[in-house]
Amino acid sequence: MEIDGPINLTTLAKHFSDEEAAYLLMERIRWGNPVEPSCPHCGVIGEATYLQPKGDGRTTNRGKVSKRRVWKCRACKRQFSVLVGTIFEGSHVPLAKWLLAIHLMCSNKNGVSAHELHRGLPVSYKTAWFMEHRIRYAMTQSPLREKLSGEVEADETYFGWLTKHGYGGRGKTPIVTLIERETGEARSQIVPRVTGAKLHRILLEEVERDAVLMTDQLPGYRKAGPDFAEHHAVNHGKDEYARTTRNGRRAHVNSAEGFFSQLKRGIDGTHHHVSEEHLHRYVAEYDFRYSTRKMSDTARTMKAIQQSAGKRLTYREPTAN
Ligand SMILES: [Zn+2]
Repeated sequence: MEIDGPINLTTLAKHFSDEEAAYLLMERIRWGNPVEPSCPHCGVIGEATYLQPKGDGRTTNRGKVSKRRVWKCRACKRQFSVLVGTIFEGSHVPLAKWLLAIHLMCSNKNGVSAHELHRGLPVSYKTAWFMEHRIRYAMTQSPLREKLSGEVEADETYFGWLTKHGYGGRGKTPIVTLIERETGEARSQIVPRVTGAKLHRILLEEVERDAVLMTDQLPGYRKAGPDFAEHHAVNHGKDEYARTTRNGRRAHVNSAEGFFSQLKRGIDGTHHHVSEEHLHRYVAEYDFRYSTRKMSDTARTMKAIQQSAGKRLTYREPTAN
């Protein structure tokens, strides 16, 4: 199986239909090229032997042929596969389908509905729903990330959600988004209520003090403004959407507004109904795609696959309702 050479959509596509190729890709992503398997049981690196299956492949407990690639650690004598410690661990869905699902979610600007995934892979609707949430979890940024710097836009929008009485409550759930202009990185969070104190806390947590803050005229930002190097607010109430400041900066929150229209188009058009309880997962997915929008679809897919490793332990299954 050829896994050397550059990864582009054509070479990547092989890994979406062939289970062994999918495993080889994961091994290359997690363990390097050439691979130096890292034992998840004892932590020893490069001391494992690949267990060559007899015949067509390994037989599972249920008597099915499995293409799972298994290694045995020479230090602790235990067996493992590259999926230990990833969001795929313990899943009955073939890895190749997982990688295809990741690719679909990474290459569609408006996201992919669980129904589309259910029809396209194919897997059951419920499985597709769980897979999408696990992949969204992989897309979530690490809490130890650096603060945003340079010119940073901060803006808020309001989102409706599905209630017991139907689709309603539009204008009720606020989302605050920060965008670092230089890198285009987006960070959103759902806040129960937009208050000055809340905005102030978010900005101090997420943005460097020497950053230049760009906001609208919402009074909540005024309190935070003096804590940063500069604060420029545009007055939407007076139909002011962009202006050049005295020191030559462009004051506007157009990037954040572009992000919100993408988010709303995606959630309304693709997912139709998103409950308030799960909204933060969808928002993380849109943050991920927006932040990586200058990458090729292949590079974005590879990044999401990389992030899928090492997230198993803290992942909690969302409950469908
Ligand atoms: Zn070991």
